[in-house]
Amino acid sequence: MPLDRYVGLSGQKWAGDLYIGVGVSGAIQHLLGIKDVKTICVINNDEAAPFFENCDYGIVGDFHEVLSLLIEEING
Ligand SMILES: Cc1cc2nc3c(=O)[nH]c(=O)nc-3n(C[C@H](O)[C@H](O)[C@H](O)COP(=O)(O)OP(=O)(O)OC[C@H]3O[C@@H](n4cnc5c(N)ncnc54)[C@H](O)[C@@H]3O)c2cc1C
Repeated sequence: MPLDRYVGLSGQKWAGDLYIGVGVSGAIQHLLGIKDVKTICVINNDEAAPFFENCDYGIVGDFHEVLSLLIEEING
C-alpha cells in the first residue's frame, strides 16, 4: 500500500461520523488516524484483537460472512 492509502500516524487522519475497521488489528499507529471519528465499528475474527478495546461497536467474526450480512441488510 502506498502511504497515502494508510490510515494513521503515517497516512490519512479522518474525523467523520462512521468508521468501520474490517480485519484491522487496532495498532496504536492506526488508531491515531481515527481518534476524532464519532462512531467506530470493528469486525475482526480474533476476539482478543486490541481494536475491541477502542471501539463503540465490535463484531467478532469472519469479515466475509459479516460484510455479506451487512450488505444484504442495507440493500433490503
Ligand atoms: C513508525 C510506524 C508508523 C506506522 N504507521 C501506521 C499507519 O499510519 N497506519 C497503520 O495502519 N499502521 C501503521 N503502522 C503499522 C502498525 O504498527 C501495525 O503493524 C499495522 O497497523 C497492522 O495492520 P493491520 O491491523 O492491517 O494488520 P495485522 O496486524 O496483520 O492484523 C490483521 C487483523 O485482521 C484480522 N483478520 C484476519 N483475517 C480476518 C477475517 N477473515 N475476518 C476478520 N478479521 C480478520 C486479524 O485477527 C488481525 O487482527 C506503523 C508502524 C510504525 C512502526
